[in-house]
Amino acid sequence: MTVNLEIRDTFNTQLPADPISENHRRQVHGACFSFVKPKKTGNPKMLHVSPEMLTTLGLTGQDAKSNIFRGVFTGNEILPNTKPYAMCYGGHQFGNWAGQLGDGRAINLGEVVSRGKRWAIQLKGAGETPYSRTADGLAVLRSSIREYLCSEAMFHLGVPTTRALSLALSGDQVLRDVLYNGNPEYEKGAIVCRVSPSFLRFGNYEIFAARKEVETLRTLVDYTIAQHYPQLGKPSMDTYLQFFKEVGEKSIKMVMHWQRVGFVHGVMNTDNMSILGLTIDYGPYGWLEGYDHGWTPNTTDSGQKRYRYGTQPQVVLWNLYQLANALYPLIGDTADLELILNGLEEKLGTAYLTMMRAKLGFNYEDNHDVDFIEELETLLQRSETDMTLFFRNLGNFKKDASSDGLSLITDAFYKPDEIKDTLKAEWESWFSKYGKRLKKEEREDSERKLAMNTVNPKYVLRNYMAQLAIDAADNGDYTVIEELFSLLRNPYDEQKNAEKWFAKRPEWARNKVGCSMLSCSS
Ligand code: AMP
Ligand code: MG
Repeated sequence: MTVNLEIRDTFNTQLPADPISENHRRQVHGACFSFVKPKKTGNPKMLHVSPEMLTTLGLTGQDAKSNIFRGVFTGNEILPNTKPYAMCYGGHQFGNWAGQLGDGRAINLGEVVSRGKRWAIQLKGAGETPYSRTADGLAVLRSSIREYLCSEAMFHLGVPTTRALSLALSGDQVLRDVLYNGNPEYEKGAIVCRVSPSFLRFGNYEIFAARKEVETLRTLVDYTIAQHYPQLGKPSMDTYLQFFKEVGEKSIKMVMHWQRVGFVHGVMNTDNMSILGLTIDYGPYGWLEGYDHGWTPNTTDSGQKRYRYGTQPQVVLWNLYQLANALYPLIGDTADLELILNGLEEKLGTAYLTMMRAKLGFNYEDNHDVDFIEELETLLQRSETDMTLFFRNLGNFKKDASSDGLSLITDAFYKPDEIKDTLKAEWESWFSKYGKRLKKEEREDSERKLAMNTVNPKYVLRNYMAQLAIDAADNGDYTVIEELFSLLRNPYDEQKNAEKWFAKRPEWARNKVGCSMLSCSS
């Protein structure tokens, strides 16, 4: 018996392997990966499987119920003709070069071809690897639920992302200090099977540049272009430059989607930046509730707030500078790279404006839009306004009744009593300008609303919602996982029985661990 997958490995067949096969921590040189086997687990139990990903990989619901499926996707069985491996990469963490990191708790099972597409399949939390450094290679249930639900939710929101096939309990206990304050406790271990065309990160290239292993760097870049950017053609200096430009453009697209839906990644280190511009490594991420450029959910970053919502686009650019440095040995000239970086910086500005115009329902481009948007951002922040509720309800605005604007969005205010006097007057003035601005648009109110509803989601995975699923699962109740999974499949649709999820964060969740405060402990 086996799982019916068409295995067609390239990464571990075309790139240099670490010659050492023992599984002990080490610095790995001159190799892109190390062969390693997942750890057998105590009592594996499948908790949820994504129907879309099953279909994508050519599997059926029947397959998902089999013992072999459970075995393979919890690391207890190795598929025939596969050689699992962990990737070697480095990275800049919180602004500093951190040296070798690598797949410390991710093990790639192999690559599968289905419906003409190639997918890499990876287990997260399946045990230690040569890259595990001082940690155990395991993952806990709470962070696994968060990654599983969020990556699929992001996909349905139209945000480029890695996917998830399955969520399982390992049946083993894992020791974690949630807030890094000297209170470690045992938690349930879990394993997510992640799926992506590739899990390559900026850090995969940086490590070779840092170690001056230029030939391995070239081999990896050529492989990446051939596999994932084949339209760029044969390797050459021009091809490398074009490759960098495309990675930059994809990364900008990705971060603009984050800004659009109010997603804060939390740990935008270069080892968490996908070479395909996909959202990758869901850790202490969060969703904006009160619109706030200064917000980050990651308590590990609470001092510096390097990765707060408002700076995410700039951080992408900073990370692209690190990628440019990593590719420099293959290009040997900084002028062209700088030119591309300048172009990307410019693009960040225009992409943001385009995105915000769409959220506000503007088709026509008015010169005053930048100021108008800034004015709105200031008001949203001064008033503690729920981002999702605000933009979704703004779609109900009528051009000819701008005096009603404020009442349409009152539900979005966390402290409605404080919207009075000058603040109230400023909101009214903004709505009056909004009404005038919309008169420059050709679309009717109803048409504009439909368009706005395709970019302003009704449902997102609010931080407390994920926590409710986690609390229930801790008690053996997995129904909330299913409820949220299915809700978030259609985030832009009105869903009659789900109005309770179209609401502000409840007050109990304001300062609760897991809801507004998360750490890298996972
Ligand atoms: P992250 O910030 O979660 O992206 O992880 C940064 C680095 O730490 C990566 O190389 C991870 O593989 C590694 N890492 C995180 N958690 C663990 C763990 N529990 N065991 C081993 N390595 C880990
Ligand atoms: Mg990571």
